[in-house]
Formats: sequence, C-alpha cells, structure tokens
Amino acid sequence: MPTLTRTSVNGNGHSAPHDVEAIFGQNTFGLAEMKSRLPKAVFKKITATIEKGEPFDESTADAIALAMKEWAVERGATHFTHWFQPLTGRTAEKHDSFITPNAGGGAVAEFSGKTLIQGEPDASSFPGGGLRATFEARGYTAYDPTSPAFIVEHNHTATLCIPTAFASWTGEALDHKIPLLRSMEALNQQATRALGVLGETVGRVFATCGAEQEYFLIDEGFYEDRPDLLVAGRTLVGAKPPRGQEFDDHYFGSIPERIMAYMNAVELELYKLGVPVATRHNEVAPGQYEIAPVFENANVAADHQQIMMMTLQRVAKRFGLACLLHEKPFAGINGSGKHVNWSMSTDTGSNLLEPGDTPHANLRFLFFCTAVVQAVHTHQDLLRAAIATAANDHRLGANEAPPAIISIFLGDQLSDVFEQITASGKATESKQSGFLGLGSPVLPTLPRHAGDRNRTSPFAFTGNKFEFRAVGSSQSVSFPLTVLNTIVAEAIDDLTTKLEEKLGRKRSKKAVETAVQEVITDSIREHTKVVFNGDGYSDEWHREAEEERGLLNLKTTPDALATLTAEKNVAVFEKYDVLTEAELESRKEILSEQYALTLNVEAATTESIAKTLVLPAAMRYLQDLGEASAAVKGFGLDDAGAKTAAEAVVTPANDLQKALGALAKARTAAHKAKDESVAMKDKVVPAMTKVREACDALEKEIPADLWPLPTYREMLFSGR
Ligand code: ADP
Ligand code: MG
Repeated sequence: MPTLTRTSVNGNGHSAPHDVEAIFGQNTFGLAEMKSRLPKAVFKKITATIEKGEPFDESTADAIALAMKEWAVERGATHFTHWFQPLTGRTAEKHDSFITPNAGGGAVAEFSGKTLIQGEPDASSFPGGGLRATFEARGYTAYDPTSPAFIVEHNHTATLCIPTAFASWTGEALDHKIPLLRSMEALNQQATRALGVLGETVGRVFATCGAEQEYFLIDEGFYEDRPDLLVAGRTLVGAKPPRGQEFDDHYFGSIPERIMAYMNAVELELYKLGVPVATRHNEVAPGQYEIAPVFENANVAADHQQIMMMTLQRVAKRFGLACLLHEKPFAGINGSGKHVNWSMSTDTGSNLLEPGDTPHANLRFLFFCTAVVQAVHTHQDLLRAAIATAANDHRLGANEAPPAIISIFLGDQLSDVFEQITASGKATESKQSGFLGLGSPVLPTLPRHAGDRNRTSPFAFTGNKFEFRAVGSSQSVSFPLTVLNTIVAEAIDDLTTKLEEKLGRKRSKKAVETAVQEVITDSIREHTKVVFNGDGYSDEWHREAEEERGLLNLKTTPDALATLTAEKNVAVFEKYDVLTEAELESRKEILSEQYALTLNVEAATTESIAKTLVLPAAMRYLQDLGEASAAVKGFGLDDAGAKTAAEAVVTPANDLQKALGALAKARTAAHKAKDESVAMKDKVVPAMTKVREACDALEKEIPADLWPLPTYREMLFSGR
C-alpha cells in the first residue's frame, strides 16, 4: 500500500514530507501504546472500560500510571497535568513535575496510580455558580480513562495532559465532561433498550460527534493593534469596507500560501494528537476558513474539539497570524459557527440514523429519527439555551445565520416519508433521487442526493446524521451534546414505553412493525410542527413559526437562559441523572454572569477606544483643518472645503460625546439593576451600538494616516 505522505511547511518556510500514518496519534497514549506497555490483564480491563463502558478497576491504576509515565518521559515530558473543562467553556491545567527528590540528593521521576486518578486543583478559582461557598474551595479532578492522555509540545518542553472530570467536594459537577458522560450513559440505556424491543441485541450505543469549526485569520500585527480584538475577541468599532463579501468569491476559493502553510502545520499537530482532521476550505467571508474532523465517540470528540481550538490559536502565532474563534469578529460580515454533527452508533459501528435507500421501510431508522424530532420539538428551549452566549447572539437571528427559532430541516425525501405517515399512518415509498446528467458526453453522470442542503436551518438532517448548525464557533460542544443526548434519551424512553405497552408480551416481527408504525405516527403527528424545509432567514418564517406553529423565538441569551430551569427542563435532567436541579441552577447562574461580564468588558473597551483613540484622531484632524483653513485664507482663497470637512467631523464627534455619556449612564444603571444581564441587554447593548455608529461615521471622514486602528479593509483583505 502506498504510504500517505503530505508536505508541510514549518515555521522557517522549509518543506518536509510527513508520513501521516506514522505520525497519527504519536503523541497520545492510546490503545496501541497501552497494548504494548501494559500487562495483559490490565490491558483487558482498561479496554473493557474504554470500549464497553465497564467500571474502571482502580487496582489497575498503578500499572497504567507507570506505563503512561514511562511513555511520556521517553517523549521528553517533564510535567503532567490533569486537563479539564471548567464551566468557563475553556480548558484548565495545573502542571506538576514528575520529579521527586530522593534520599541520595538526586531525583526520580514518579507518578503513582493515585496521582493519575485524582487531582485537587483549588476549585475557588473556577466558576461554581453557587455550588460551593468560597470557604469550601476543595475540588477534585478524576481521570477519564475513555479519552486518551496526550502530550503537548511547546518550544522544547513537553507536558503530559490527562483528560479529567472536575467536581466539587460534595460531588457536584463543576465541568462540562461529567454531564456529557452521564448523558451518554442515559442515551446508551434507552437506545439499547429500544433496540431490544425492535429485536436487536447490542452491547452499547454511544453518541457520535464531528464538529466543523469556522474561524478567521488575520495578520497578527493588525490583531495586536486592535484593543477590542485583544480584549473582547471582536471588533467593537469599524466601518464596513466598500467591498465586503458581495461577490461570494472567497467561498471554496484557492487558499493563499501563508494560510495553506498554517493549515498544514495545524493538521500536523492535530495528527500527532490523534485528532482526525479531514477537510479544510475557505468559508463565505473574506479571511474565513473551516476545518472539520472525522466523527468520533462524542466524549472524545468534545476533548478533541478543545484541542483543535487550542491548536488553531497556538500555531497561528508561528505564522504571524491571529486566529479569531469569536462568533462575530466583524460586524456586517458573516459570523462563525460550529456545526455539531451528531448521531448514535452501536458498538459494532452501525449508525442508528442511517436511512438506507428506502427510509420508508427502515423501521429502526424511522423510530430513532422520530425520537430526535420529538426531542427537538419538546425541548427547543433547551437547545437554544445550550448555545446562548453574548457572542452567539450576534449570529442567531441576524440575516446571515440560522435564526434563534429552533426548527428541523429534513429534506425532500424524508419530509415526504413523514408526510405519508402523518396522512395515512404508514409510508409506502421513498422518493428516489436518480441521476444528474450534465449535458456533455465527456462528463460523468452523477448520482444525486435524495435531498438538497439548507444553509438556513439551525438543525438539519444531512444524510445520516443531524447537524446542529446554530452552535457558536468559540463555545465548547459539550453542553449542546449533553442536551441532545439527554432529550433524545427521554424521547426514546417515551416511544419505547409506548411500544412495550402496545406489544405486551408479543414480539413477532409483524407485531413489532405494526406497533412501531402506530407509535411513530402519533409522535410525528404531534411534533411535525418543528419540521421546516423553507428559508429560515425569511420574515415570513418568523411569523409562521411563532403565530401558526407556536415555536419559540428566544432572541437573546437572557431570554434563552430564563428557560433553563423551567420545570420540564429540571425534570428531564434529573430523571436521567445528568444534572441535579442545583447543578442546572449553577449553570444558569454562570452563563448569566458570563453574559453580563462579556458585555461589561465590551462596553468598557468601547468606551476606552472611543475616548483614547477615536476622539483624539478627530480632534487632530480638526486641528489640521483649522490650520488648512487659515492657510487657505492667507492665500486670499475661499476656505469652504475645509469648513465642509470640519462640519462632517464635528457632527459625529459631538454625537460620539453624547453617546459616551449615555453609555456610562447605562452601565451604572445595569450594575445596580436586579437582573444585570437583562439590563445589559436592554440598556448597555443599544448604548454601545450608538457609540459604534458615531465612531464608524468618523472613520469615514478622517484621513487614513490619522486613523488609529487597522481598518476592516486591512484586516480582511491584506496581509495574507
Ligand atoms: P456533509 O458533507 O453531509 O456535511 P461530511 O461527510 O462532510 O458530510 O461530514 C461533515 C461532518 O459530519 C464531519 O465532521 C463528519 O465526520 C461528521 N459526521 C459524518 N457522519 C457522522 C455521524 N454518523 N455522526 C457524527 N458526525 C458525523
Ligand atoms: Mg459548514
């Protein structure tokens, strides 16, 4: 077999071929490495935990720790860290050295099973959302054996990172991993139970996830000169360039050389870390790109997603670039999302959402697909809350992003099947897609997909998986995945219980078929309101969704978060042991706090940019104009030109002063308000917009050499 090689350019611009197969996973302590290093019995036990979800046997910890340490030290690691995902949505690590002094005045590398299994970071530095009082600062990290440990290399040092869960002293989840793992267990239980009734015995069902990541790249020099990008991750002022993305010529366009070198370097790092990245291309906006992995077990995929974001940002510096993961770095230009592709797989690798060529006859598929539709309709609010951040509010509902209304796109073929079921309780055919002739004898005939795509849908069926498209580009995928797993587990539970009731003790193929048809027909008739194949960006849809279909339109983060602890939502999380009411409350509190904090930082930064950069530039220009006017008059000429220019600057400059006063007032009022996040949304956001408008008006009047910030044109179109 030919080896897969690829060329990548390192930081010095030198090309070197890489043997991808040899490199892939070389910095992870995965199954292959474990197999060669662990005693047989230990390897068998850990494999059962990883592959079958069996309880972790703590008596194997010392052997695993020893093997892991030896592997890591051989690769130059001097430190290890319990790597975890606190509720900030980022990752956290506290490094400890392997080195322990010995009696002879020397030192040995030590790492015990106990240190592998449990860590104790100071929990008080991470958001707890009221789960622990500050005096109860104790928190624990716990080894997640199902996600491979990995080594991160920076400038000649290497650190062993061990994926862990993070909980309070009282055992409450302070992180994103614990609920995700709990939700996967709930899904496993309900899906295996359902499959049992459908006549199929499987060992385990797990959620799968492949998350496509969109991002922007700009020259690092521009980034450093923009306080708003540095502090808030997005531009808080900045006039739209005369040429934006109107020409649609960036999407899938050829990739510039520096960017290509960067992408190669990112992929190389990710391969080493066992992250299976597959595709890359330009996105819609200038300077926007996308990277997508091959899907994996959702827990591992969530860890890999964090590694991917870290790597994208870290490697950018090597190429003099800055990678912007923010949902809306540039106003008026497409934002970035993260398309979370999700499905369910059996332990034998069979995809429960694979429709085959004749979905109408595929009862297993119809059953699980119906469960997803029911879950999404029942819990639109939870899905919306799972993606609610100040940053994502700029995308949802704006005209180039999926709306804040959660609906499902099923495509032609499936919608037709669902319509047949709604009409007659049974589907008898699946529309076939046929072939596409291209009208030239030299071109091949292409098999056509059974359904087209729909870019405007927040939640779309795409062939054999659902794609939750409204997720924000900078957020952790864990909470959206946790919500999906939990609500689908509930729907499967509900449908299975109904099946069991109908069937009694009968299990003949015919009886099961009839019962499934009846159960899904009832569900589809009730929940098909959430299915929408049209243009999600249209005003007509907003009206129809709310008025005719009764779907929710939770436009902003505070609206969405308010629903998080509604009775039905607490009930579903508690019933499946995913989050207790207290844990859910804590999440709501943390998310609201983060929302208010983000806006507060943005408001402060907007104010400072306006006062210290924009207004002084305006004054300097006025001074220049004053001197010009005097000079012109000195020549005995008419200074009307200077006067007109001065007027064009004075008007927005005065507006800016006024807007700044209003912003300061709004901020003070918001701090005093009962619900700070709501006050931020209602008062501070509009006040910031006014400041921005005045700044952007000034940008259009002030000469380029006096303008103190890199412009949109520079950031988006030059320096690549
Ligand atoms: P499409 O072109 O239909 O969007 P791709 O095959 O390009 O599909 O996949 C897009 C993303 O969806 C990739 O990250 C891929 O790994 C992921 N994906 C594909 N199948 C599944 C699945 N069964 N479960 C989860 N993610 C999946
Ligand atoms: Mg995409």
